Amino acid sequence: MNVHKTDEALGFIPLPNDSGKPITVVGTDAIRDNFDATCLQQAINSRLAPGVTDVILNPDGHAGYGAPVGCVMVSPTHIYPGPVGVDIKCSMSLLQLDIPEDAIVDKKVRRALINAIIERTPTGAGRGQRTVKKSRRVDQATGVLAVTEGATTRVCEALGIPPEWADRCEDSTHFGHNGTYDALRSRLDFILASGRVRNFASKIEQLGSYGGGNHFGECEITRLSDRPSMLAAADTFGLKDGHVSFLSHCGSRGLGNLLAQGQFKDLEHKFRQWATPFPAGDKQLVYAPLGTPEADAYLDDMAIGANFATVNHLLINALVLEAFQEVLPGAKGELVYFISHNIAREEVVDGKKAWVHRKGATRAIPGGHFSLAGTPFAATGHPILLPGNPRDGSVVMVAKGGAERTAWSVNHGAGRQMGRKHAARTLDQKTVDADFDASDILTNCRQYPIDEAPDAYKNFPEVLRSVEAAGLAETVAKLQARFVIKD
Ligand code: 5GP
Ligand code: MN
Ligand code: MN
Repeated sequence: MNVHKTDEALGFIPLPNDSGKPITVVGTDAIRDNFDATCLQQAINSRLAPGVTDVILNPDGHAGYGAPVGCVMVSPTHIYPGPVGVDIKCSMSLLQLDIPEDAIVDKKVRRALINAIIERTPTGAGRGQRTVKKSRRVDQATGVLAVTEGATTRVCEALGIPPEWADRCEDSTHFGHNGTYDALRSRLDFILASGRVRNFASKIEQLGSYGGGNHFGECEITRLSDRPSMLAAADTFGLKDGHVSFLSHCGSRGLGNLLAQGQFKDLEHKFRQWATPFPAGDKQLVYAPLGTPEADAYLDDMAIGANFATVNHLLINALVLEAFQEVLPGAKGELVYFISHNIAREEVVDGKKAWVHRKGATRAIPGGHFSLAGTPFAATGHPILLPGNPRDGSVVMVAKGGAERTAWSVNHGAGRQMGRKHAARTLDQKTVDADFDASDILTNCRQYPIDEAPDAYKNFPEVLRSVEAAGLAETVAKLQARFVIKD
């Protein structure tokens, strides 16, 4: 399958018989020539699936669940749970502290910070508040409010989260199919009664935790871009040059996972009952036409998972700030932004309302766009948080007008270039650990997880070059890692 080049960092994949808008591909030659065959096939399958009007493949693209991780799928008429994924609203958040970088040069200080953070925010699959001693216990009633309302003032106040951080969220609340908390509450009651989410209490226990695998917390030094045109954005975002910041990556933990898996099963069952073929024969591309009870049920479950993820991130940030204050008394911190890369949102694309599924992709809306009116980012555009890898850094970007070509989206990171097994077979543990030592980056792990090594991911500078050369977004600040918490 060929990707045709149109520009330095843009290309397209035509549809069979030129039957519709081609798939837009973002990436320089080095990126474009190296998408794996499964990823390209999944991009075609997604584009040809019912009701889909546009697909964008980003430079971080690689094979995923039905659709590539690193793609955007647009539909005015259908909702696709697979392309939202098993970790509903997996997201990035960034906390900017007022601590100058000199304060954490000493390894002992960084070690103390790692310990103070992992005493408050559990890491590892299945782990919740009870497993660490300084976590925030969330009672059942607050847990129910959190998943049905998201980061409302009363939920934030109950959990010790600064309520004004809600303004720093891409979405602080998700309402489900009919825009009411009540609908979500009855859907939650139904879910709990159905036994699909067993032991709900243990899922609520996971609020304020990272989980395992690819999720992480990372201490950074913020380094502002020297382009004068980026200063206004940096100022509005609250970024502080040469000061410590903290980047978090996680999603909706066990609750989101069970909700997503339940939806995949329900819809697969319905497709078989209706004798409807799966798109391209792939059951991971099951869908529901909007307005049907199946679509309503999915939108409600996605909202419950998304509300969990939102409160989870905000609570993690509150706990991380508390950890910094324990080690460096008097430290202050503010949330820069919280933005998802696994979510479907109703937006306006090419002048029409449509559901934009971002599967490992990040919303990228520039200043002046109507959808940011009333937010702190109306004039500048919102912050785009792009993790790369600990060794090569991460960035904060802001969208440019060119992002209209990509349904107001950019990539969500570097993207995997090696599967987990491939990485374990190919990479050398000693070299990986030596790399961290050489860059003076501490970690909480005795040995860094080999399948998460920087080289298991694509070349981040090349990915960034692709985004900038395609005219989608510009770098406002670089984030240089000083320690990583991963499990
Ligand atoms: P996901 O796992 O959500 O698909 O990808 C998130 C992105 O995070 C990856 O594409 C990768 O670029 C980035 N990433 C993974 N691990 C780390 C890490 O430990 N630190 C940083 N800064 N980025 C990471
Ligand atoms: Mn995730
Ligand atoms: Mn993620």
